Amino acid sequence: MASAQVEAVPIVARDAARTPAGLVVMKFGGTSVGDVEKLRAVARRLVAARAAGHRVVGVLSAMGGATDELLELAHAVSPSPQARELDMLISVGERVSSALCAMAIIELGYPAVSLTGSQAGIVTDTVHGKAKIVDVRARRINAALDDGAIVLVAGFQGVSTEHEVTTLGRGGSDTTAVALAAALGADTCEIYTDVDGVFSADPRLVRRARLLPSLAYDEMLELAASGAAVLQLRSVEFARNHGVLLHVRSTFTGEDGTWVGREDETVLEKAIISGVAHTLEETLYRVEGVRPAQLFAALADAQVNVDTIVRTGTEIVFSAPEQDTAAARRVLDELGARWSSSAELGKVSVVGAGMKSHPGVAATAFAALEAAGVEPEIVTTSPIKIACHVDRADVERAVQALHDAFELAAAGAERAGG
Ligand code: ASP
Ligand code: MG
Repeated sequence: MASAQVEAVPIVARDAARTPAGLVVMKFGGTSVGDVEKLRAVARRLVAARAAGHRVVGVLSAMGGATDELLELAHAVSPSPQARELDMLISVGERVSSALCAMAIIELGYPAVSLTGSQAGIVTDTVHGKAKIVDVRARRINAALDDGAIVLVAGFQGVSTEHEVTTLGRGGSDTTAVALAAALGADTCEIYTDVDGVFSADPRLVRRARLLPSLAYDEMLELAASGAAVLQLRSVEFARNHGVLLHVRSTFTGEDGTWVGREDETVLEKAIISGVAHTLEETLYRVEGVRPAQLFAALADAQVNVDTIVRTGTEIVFSAPEQDTAAARRVLDELGARWSSSAELGKVSVVGAGMKSHPGVAATAFAALEAAGVEPEIVTTSPIKIACHVDRADVERAVQALHDAFELAAAGAERAGG
């Protein structure tokens, strides 16, 4: 039986830009600052919030594609660039967009100042390329806000406890924004992007994917971990741990998007299933003749990002992203394990907080996959997720079948694509 959807109604509509005299943190992604015209539009948006009486902090990504270009340059010079130098290089993109935006704001007649992550007081651990924020010393931001300035903070970067420039991992500007919102006591962190919010499935795959008005942190965490790329996973963890309400919305429409918050804060009545997420590049390994402790220690040492783990009898099954294939094979051979692997897999995950209290979700999911002729290689679950590894060629069909089975589609007209 398909479980009917209960419309999730946001009961909290604390739109920071509409609340009187609040502090707003507004983050803009790479496509939102993709060219000079777009940067000017972002400047106008920040100025409008300032003119409405708010203290305004803007967090900017690098202009679209800039980080990839810097990475390409690095790899053109060195096959394995030194981590410290790589961070020196790729932190630059966010500095460019922030400084340009500050200039555009000043041009509009408002005071503005751009700050690097370091100047903004974002202190991290020492792990280059995926540093964790350990402290936010917001004195300088607060002083600039007290002076009436709009403050632009370069996203994605900080300064380590050893005074080195660090970056926070791909998509890390989201985490910069959430960390600042928490440290500065903002009510809401607004994440402006090139889509309308978080959808019930990737709208490029499922034309009738529905915009989700609200999600609980745990659902957003599972979706982000299962392939929904709209928010960096770590930013959602940070938001949950610090109780920062997130609003993911379009830069271009000004419409409400998706609110992400505590379960009781975001939804009146829970939808049973919120969405179907997918990834396309998974490899599954079946291993015998080695102890789990030894295996996973060696994989961790080799920086293999293990996702799913299942143990049945003497066999250990685990999945890892395709980019880690060479490292995983090396580890398995060095350990003398008997192993085989299936490459060319994807993973399709059904996520919903309502699963906890509604039986029959697995039954519906498996019936839908069977009817679509999709045979999962392996199935794993969490309290609010069912994840199936399937042939990559079947991913799209599986996503569509599950989306239909749980009646997640938008009512009325088909959306005009992503
Ligand atoms: N510019 C960085 C990236 O492309 C960080 C971000 O945009 O959040 O990953
Ligand atoms: Mg992003």
